[in-house]
Amino acid sequence: MKTRGSLIVLSGFAGVGKGTVLKSLFETHEGYAYSVSATTRSPRPGEVDGVHYFFVSKERFEQMIANDELLEYACYVDNYYGTPKAYVDSKLEDGFDVILEIEVQGALNIKKKVPDAILIYMLPPSAVTLRDRLTGRGTETPDVIRKRMERAAEEAVGVEQYDYIVVNDDADECAQELNSLIRAQRHRTGSNKAFIRMIQEDLKRLTKEGD
Ligand code: 5GP
Repeated sequence: MKTRGSLIVLSGFAGVGKGTVLKSLFETHEGYAYSVSATTRSPRPGEVDGVHYFFVSKERFEQMIANDELLEYACYVDNYYGTPKAYVDSKLEDGFDVILEIEVQGALNIKKKVPDAILIYMLPPSAVTLRDRLTGRGTETPDVIRKRMERAAEEAVGVEQYDYIVVNDDADECAQELNSLIRAQRHRTGSNKAFIRMIQEDLKRLTKEGD
């Protein structure tokens, strides 16, 4: 019997290495689907439309909100980011564990809408590591780095609202931990309601037959 996939929300400060960890996870394990978000921010060098994000205009984004095409959306450092609903629903139905890589505000909105979603926060081994990684990436201006560090300090206050944390010291190790955590969710009673019901009904039927 096909188990519905889990909806996994992964957040972490900018620069913590979510992208590298997810790349390692997808390279080493099957059964995952990555939800590509829509955003109004400009592509960074190397980012591809439809792969990293759907890069859309503010007008198009507001139309998506009005048409109820988004599972959630938020404004982050002066841009809109949102999760297209249709892809997530169909992949969950097909049994994939769907990963949303989104910030805190959107994550908490998901928890309200989809109570059995799993919220995981990725932390750096230390605050200094985070600052060094952000500076080392070399893709943002000092002003944007400062804004992102400020935002990280604000977000750190909300980490306790997540279900789990993973620490990214080594990306491959972190990917393995993430995989174990996500796969364990497949054994939750809530993810196996139809199977449990089938066993209960079959047991009743077999007991009656034996009378
Ligand atoms: P970046 O500009 O660095 O790609 O992303 C900035 C922040 O927006 C990150 O924390 C990222 O996880 C978050 N983000 C990306 N997509 C979405 C989305 O669809 N919804 C929400 N709420 N946040 C998103």
